[in-house]
Amino acid sequence: MKHFPIFLSLVDRTVVVAGGGEAAVAKLRLLLKTEARIVVFASSPDETVESWANEGQITLRRRAFAEGDATGSALVYAASDDEAEDRRVADIARVEGVLVNHVDNLENSDFITPAIVDRDPVTVAIGTEGAAPVLARAIKADLEERLPRSLGILARIGKAFRSAADALPHGPARREFWSDYYFAAGPRAFDSNGEAALPETLDDLLADHLKRSAREGHVTFVGAGPGDPELLTLKARRALHEADVVIHDRLVTPAILELARREAIIVDAGKEGFGPSTPQDEIDATIVRHALDGHHVVRLKAGDATIFGRLDEEIEACEMAGVSFAVVPGITAASASVAAIGQSLTRRGRNSSVRFVTGHDVQGYADQDWRTLAQPGEVAAIYMGKKASRFLQGRLMMHGADPETPVTLVENASRPDQRVIAARLRTLPEDAALLEGPALMLYGLAPRDAAAIQLPEEIAL
Ligand code: SAH
Repeated sequence: MKHFPIFLSLVDRTVVVAGGGEAAVAKLRLLLKTEARIVVFASSPDETVESWANEGQITLRRRAFAEGDATGSALVYAASDDEAEDRRVADIARVEGVLVNHVDNLENSDFITPAIVDRDPVTVAIGTEGAAPVLARAIKADLEERLPRSLGILARIGKAFRSAADALPHGPARREFWSDYYFAAGPRAFDSNGEAALPETLDDLLADHLKRSAREGHVTFVGAGPGDPELLTLKARRALHEADVVIHDRLVTPAILELARREAIIVDAGKEGFGPSTPQDEIDATIVRHALDGHHVVRLKAGDATIFGRLDEEIEACEMAGVSFAVVPGITAASASVAAIGQSLTRRGRNSSVRFVTGHDVQGYADQDWRTLAQPGEVAAIYMGKKASRFLQGRLMMHGADPETPVTLVENASRPDQRVIAARLRTLPEDAALLEGPALMLYGLAPRDAAAIQLPEEIAL
């Protein structure tokens, strides 16, 4: 690149044109678009030059360019249509330290004037370093056709709207807004109602894009229920269907993941890359990263996301990153399990409260209010109790719980391989050892007469 393209400010600067004929007129037409003070030196100028002088658009000196005439000016055009005269002008200009364009003489020019597509303030300058003027003209013609005539006006009005548009988040949302304005809504409004219609068009467009961008970077925490896809809420289904990215737990069944769009990115946050002990902050970061990429993320959690789901950590990560979120409740394992044994979690005269407890937490076996739980009639839904069963049994019996207290184990609740084990506190560790899949312990509840319980499949038949 021999010539470095720059945009030179000509505000309050002088540009000298030496010549008053055809070449000078061509350059003057371009220069008149600028805010430069234009001084023309010509002993016998063209009519056009005369009329520009009369209109006060240029200053006309009716004499040949002479020494000292270039001093202090920004540019000099040697444009007399006379090679020797132009060379003389160029020599003087150079001595006076001013950049000179010797018209039609690339070698003797310090700068050249590009082909220009003018949509002021949008200006496209095309240069071929003199190699292919035909090509420059073709590119110019192509751009003239491609860039809406109104582009300059659109840009001028758009510029005043820039700070308002900052209400849109950085990145794709804002880029889409401007592209919509410049290439669709803007030209359309201009063509039908002219410049005056543009401010209102911008307002409407912004309102529209703000609404759209509300969808951007959104996280929906969705309760996937216990496994049966029919136990998903309609909201959960819709969220899944609309998700760009689905980040799911190990316990979420394939049948549910199938409801995601084919194009959606599915991230398993419970296995392989993550491993069973996926650090929570890694999951948080994955959720936030996808949301900040402008995706609608569905964070799919087993059961209800608000129950032993580490939801708060993930919500806090969203809050810190300024990502909006919503929570769609789901059917928790306790609800599905109790349904499977034909009981209810609370019952008048038996238990007016029910506890949701976890067998262990991040610190190990979880301590609970064993004394209260050991009372007759108490009911608890124990999550993640399999490994803790001996510990649970010990604590409860220590606080006086009846060894005959029923504890029902519901494994794979709501799934085709659902299994119900009617245990007693006394036999809990042995019965729990039989479990293979996720299981919930319903402490204080025995299955209603097993024969009377119809499985959902049988109802369907
Ligand atoms: N948020 C989930 C619970 C997550 S903790 C919910 O609301 O259900 C994981 C524990 O939930 C498992 O160890 C198991 O105790 C229980 N669980 C989840 N799905 C289950 C299912 N289909 N059947 C039985 N227990 C289940």
